[in-house]
Amino acid sequence: MNTRIVIDGGMGEGGGQVLRASLALSAALGKPFRMTNIRARRPKPGLKRQHLTCVRAVQTICGAKVEGDAVNSVELEFSPGAVRPGEYQFQVGTGGSVTLVLQAVVPPLLLGETPSEITVTGGTHVPYAPPFEFMRDTLFPQLARLGPQATARMDRVGYMDTGGGSVTVNITPAAVLTPFQRQEAEEFSGAEAVIYGHNLPEGIVERETTVLLAERYEPLGLTAENIRCENSLCSAASPSGSGNAVLVTVRRGESATVFGECGWRGRTAEKVARQACKRALVFMKSEAPVEEHLADQLLVPLALAGGGAFVAKRITPHARTCLDVIARFMEIKIDLAPDPVRGVRVTLERKAPRHGDAR
Ligand code: ATP
Repeated sequence: MNTRIVIDGGMGEGGGQVLRASLALSAALGKPFRMTNIRARRPKPGLKRQHLTCVRAVQTICGAKVEGDAVNSVELEFSPGAVRPGEYQFQVGTGGSVTLVLQAVVPPLLLGETPSEITVTGGTHVPYAPPFEFMRDTLFPQLARLGPQATARMDRVGYMDTGGGSVTVNITPAAVLTPFQRQEAEEFSGAEAVIYGHNLPEGIVERETTVLLAERYEPLGLTAENIRCENSLCSAASPSGSGNAVLVTVRRGESATVFGECGWRGRTAEKVARQACKRALVFMKSEAPVEEHLADQLLVPLALAGGGAFVAKRITPHARTCLDVIARFMEIKIDLAPDPVRGVRVTLERKAPRHGDAR
């Protein structure tokens, strides 16, 4: 019988990630937990729609018994059953992020024998969450290094005001996960960009294109040919609401890192585009192979794989929080070694598995 792990939801970042990492680890390892102070460090604490969708989604895939799953709830008890791969559909019901729901759902489905297909509707390009392309092109190819294959398609764009976007993920799991190594940055091999802009005041997409082509961002090599604008209101993939996002993809060797920024009322088009280019340029020039958002999103899969090592430019509070959550669920040795030139070398090494660690 597993004893219930108690997690203070206000630890570290004190946001939704403490919950998502806990749900993913709980389902994958078959370990029940109780969380108090959910999202205590956010202006409006407790479970919001996106977080509640995460709870319900992970509950569904592992037949968990749950208490406290209500909007604004600050306490939750989660007792997982066995993970059941299959076809599932989840709705956030608002513009809450679909990729954040998938952040909780995908890791438990990476291990096993049968594939899964998960469709989530909600926001696909919303502030402070991975844009769809980041998940598809940056995170999923790294998960493939662990063994499983995950692919994603977006059938409809969804912004933060109205949601309604639709993303489907197909997962072919692996019987065992292979520990991961990513310590050397490959050579820069090019960049491209996508600008999403629907139902916006005139000129926004053009102003963002002008920024992307500015001289200061020339090293990225963006041209009129490799910048794509997604602004049609006539295709089946068009959103119902209005929104804006600029995504710059930096390619190094085989890997792609997507730098996404969303627009909102009061944030100028220039600022949105400049921020995406600036982040892309800093990464392009750095010698760290793993971008900082990718770093925090890799940690749970890596822990489930039994370990691995990578170098990131910096370890964010999100990543530290994730490591702290992992340490509550697993016997794992975590080492963060400063690397004077490249940033921080992160090493995870699982101590010998104990009875009950496997699901
Ligand atoms: P809250 O804290 O309000 O509950 P939340 O549930 O949206 O917010 P956070 O705890 O802030 O979530 O976690 C945000 C996650 O989104 C992190 O994994 C972070 O790496 C990721 N993320 C944020 N912005 C980007 C981006 N531009 N590209 C890729 N990933 C991003």
